[in-house]
Amino acid sequence: MSLLSLSRNELKELLSDQPKYRIDQIWKGVYEQHLRPSEITTLPKQLREQLGQDPRFNLQGEEVEVLQADGGKTIKTLTRFSDGREVESVLMRYESRVTLCVSSQAGCAMGCVFCATGQAGFFRHLSADEILEQVFLAARRAKDLYDSRLSNLVFMGMGEPLANYDNVIEAVAKINFEFSIAARHITVSTVGIVPGILKLAENPMQISLAVSLHAANDELRTRLVPINARYPLDDLVASLDAYRERSNRRISFEWAMMADINDHDSDAFELAEIAKRVKAHVNLIPLNPTPLFPTPGTELDRVYEFRDLLVDSGVNATVRMTRGNQIAAACGQLSTQVKVRRSSRGEDKDLQAT
Ligand code: SAH
Ligand code: SF4
Repeated sequence: MSLLSLSRNELKELLSDQPKYRIDQIWKGVYEQHLRPSEITTLPKQLREQLGQDPRFNLQGEEVEVLQADGGKTIKTLTRFSDGREVESVLMRYESRVTLCVSSQAGCAMGCVFCATGQAGFFRHLSADEILEQVFLAARRAKDLYDSRLSNLVFMGMGEPLANYDNVIEAVAKINFEFSIAARHITVSTVGIVPGILKLAENPMQISLAVSLHAANDELRTRLVPINARYPLDDLVASLDAYRERSNRRISFEWAMMADINDHDSDAFELAEIAKRVKAHVNLIPLNPTPLFPTPGTELDRVYEFRDLLVDSGVNATVRMTRGNQIAAACGQLSTQVKVRRSSRGEDKDLQAT
């Protein structure tokens, strides 16, 4: 048990000798000001000291590396939990919003061949409070550095969120209710775990769903995304039909563009068929090459041509070249190679340690 896993009632029970207004002070201090209880200066010193020494009122994780790019507008952190496992989170500041990308697992069992996290394999699920600790630490940083709150949250860090469904949904509820991020600004990105999509369809929270498609025929998709053998495209698309019918929410597709692999005209036409059927918006992101999958990302001119083919076929499609999306796409790379690809073509820049 640690601070962010406590409900308000549990907190009250643990501090039953304290008046109700103290519980409110602690709750607000944690969820609105993002302070540890020991840092809430409106509490009596003795109580602060007592709380500071008790692991139930503290975080389990600690930030072991903080790296920034783009003059501090993009910040990657590595958080280490008590068993030594480390996960990455990325904070991205834009003109009108602050987005946090969080991890849902240490590692990932899905083995997508182009993904650094997948290449490293699966270690374990994160608990809801380990997911929430990433949010707490980032919210604190956004307040200190940007004088701003977190407005958007995406599950695009390490791990497959729908393979850790219950913990992710428990965390999402608190992110929505306590960290006050609107449900429609919370996006779960999945490789296409059909039972998870069907379960999510029944969930009343209006969160957004992104599906990492990358290929629109089974032969290629199984090669790139091995879990496709278990949940082939027909089943995936049927689950998305059901999802739309039940939830009435919009779906987006992620398509990492890999040179001469999934960027042919025929790929665009196959993708357009599926995207039109489920009315999905398509995000095109040039692949970040990884050591075990050195294929380059598609050249920018071709990315735009591919986008035009989709648009001409009646599909909403966007090229996402911004630094933030490049970093979100560099899923799992912090722990392997502390390097991100910048927005302009071909330019690589090391992140600066802060
Ligand atoms: N497991 C989930 C969420 C984490 S991955 C999923 O797969 O959707 C987040 C996104 O990064 C996914 O769209 C994934 O396909 C993409 N991604 C992974 N490795 C990448 C790479 N090397 N270049 C570009 N995008 C990548
Ligand atoms: Fe896992 Fe997503 Fe990476 Fe695939 S792309 S290995 S599902 S984290």
